[in-house]
Amino acid sequence: MTLAERLVCDCLKAGISLAIEDGDLVIKGPYHSELFATLREHKAAVIKCLQAGKGFLWAVSPDWQLWFEPGTPLHVQEAIARRVLPPAGWPSDLELPWWWAHFALTEDVLEAREWVCDCGFRALVRTQKRPEWFCPQCQCPPEGISV
Ligand SMILES: [Zn+2]
Repeated sequence: MTLAERLVCDCLKAGISLAIEDGDLVIKGPYHSELFATLREHKAAVIKCLQAGKGFLWAVSPDWQLWFEPGTPLHVQEAIARRVLPPAGWPSDLELPWWWAHFALTEDVLEAREWVCDCGFRALVRTQKRPEWFCPQCQCPPEGISV
């Protein structure tokens, strides 16, 4: 990952959106002095990175990233990035499993809660399609859960 790519990634995480208007970099979102200064310093590289349509999804694992098709608008990348963030209720010490991005993009997860499933997975989820709690790893409903 290049410095410019990491910067774009850090901006997504900080809720800052980047766009190119008339060939110049437009920064929108909460003011972050350090990030903004670094962005200005590496503006040309960041513009190049955005023009290539590159984007990265935040994940718990530092080397986990997702590449978009060149030209994917940044707001679309952001919307997808937000969808694959850990849902409300996700146990803070539980890493997102490697299959999470695919699961979250197809299932539209509403919320999560801590629970040790028979398969060993440590969280349950509810989704738009399946509003009852179930284990995202083995797809089984939990036994004897109090809602
Ligand atoms: Zn399970």
